[in-house]
Amino acid sequence: MNNMYCPNCGAEVSEKAVICVKCGVALKPNNLANGETQPKTWLVESILVTIFCCLPFGIAAIVNAANVGSRFGSGDIEGAQRASKQAGKWTKVAFWIGVVWVALYLLFIFAFGGLAMLAAW
Ligand SMILES: [Zn+2]
Repeated sequence: MNNMYCPNCGAEVSEKAVICVKCGVALKPNNLANGETQPKTWLVESILVTIFCCLPFGIAAIVNAANVGSRFGSGDIEGAQRASKQAGKWTKVAFWIGVVWVALYLLFIFAFGGLAMLAAW
């Protein structure tokens, strides 16, 4: 049995306990001991931009997104926050390049469509 101790009163509490039976203070899971929550991973977003748009930038985003979870899991909160920022940056870069790419593509289609119509006259 892996018992924990209440950070407030020091009483021994079950590791599954949500509140301390002695003083009633709310107990947090071990990995949330400092009240830190895992920063946004950007994992879903980074995978989407990789599939729909820009592989190299998307991969950079996915690598950082994966780091968020692993660093947070190992207690490196600051590293997880850094990775989250990087993942967000690369996801946005890939997203905007994708938007520009689609815009250029549409422009190309319309330009040629217009030329074809003019030629048909
Ligand atoms: Zn307590």
